[in-house]
Amino acid sequence: MAPLTIALSKGRILDETLPLLAAAGIVPADNPDTSRKLILATNRPGVALVIVRATDVPTYVQYGAADAGVAGKDVLLEHGGEGLYQPLDLGLGRCRLVVAARRSYDWSGTIQRGARIRVATKYVKTAREHFAAKGMHVDLIKLYGSMELAPLVGLADCIVDLVDTGNTLRANDLEPRELIMNISSRLVVNKAAMKMKHEAIAALLTQFEQTLAKR
Ligand code: AMP
Repeated sequence: MAPLTIALSKGRILDETLPLLAAAGIVPADNPDTSRKLILATNRPGVALVIVRATDVPTYVQYGAADAGVAGKDVLLEHGGEGLYQPLDLGLGRCRLVVAARRSYDWSGTIQRGARIRVATKYVKTAREHFAAKGMHVDLIKLYGSMELAPLVGLADCIVDLVDTGNTLRANDLEPRELIMNISSRLVVNKAAMKMKHEAIAALLTQFEQTLAKR
C-alpha cells in the first residue's frame, strides 16, 4: 500500500474511528489515549496517524500534510471544505447544530419584529450563513467554549452550538429554537491524494464502507 497519513483528533472521533481502522487492518503501534506522540506509526508500514485539534483536521488534509482525516460536518462547514473530498459519511458523533435561547426568550416575537439579535458561537461562518438565509440581522460574537453561559449573563440573545442529549441546554435554562443541521463525522480526503494514492484510499474507503454496512 502507498504511504498514507490520516489526521484524527483525540476524543470521540479517535475513539470511534479506531475500530473502523482496525477493521481495515490498521492498528496504531502506541496507545493513542496515553501516548503523547503526535505522529503514531501503525502496524502497516507507511501508514501513520497524526493527532491534531478537531478544528485543524480539514486544514492538514487541505494542504496535503495528511492524505485523509475524519472531521465533523460542523468543523467542515466552518472550514469551507476547499481542497477536500468528502467521500463518506461515517455516521459517527451524531448530533445537531441548533440555535438555542433561554426558555423565557420570545423567539417568535423577535423574528416577527425583525429585531437585531446577538448570537454567541464558535461557528461564526455557519451561523452567519444561517441567519442571512433567513434575512435576520445578527451581531455575531465569537466564543471558544461554554457557549451556554452567554445568554445567561446577557452577552447574547441566543447561541449556535452542538446538542446531543440536550442535557447541557436544559441544565442552563436554554432550549433549542431552530435546527440548523444534523451533524456527523465524515471521511475527508486531499484532492491530489485521491488521484495520486487512489488505490490505497479506495481500499480504505471500501473497508470503511463494508464495516459500517455491518453495523
Ligand atoms: P449534550 O448535553 O449531550 O446535549 O451535549 C452538549 C455539549 O456537548 C455541548 O457543549 C456541545 O458543544 C458538546 N457536543 C455535543 N455533541 C458533540 C459532538 N458530536 N462533538 C463535539 N461536541 C459535542
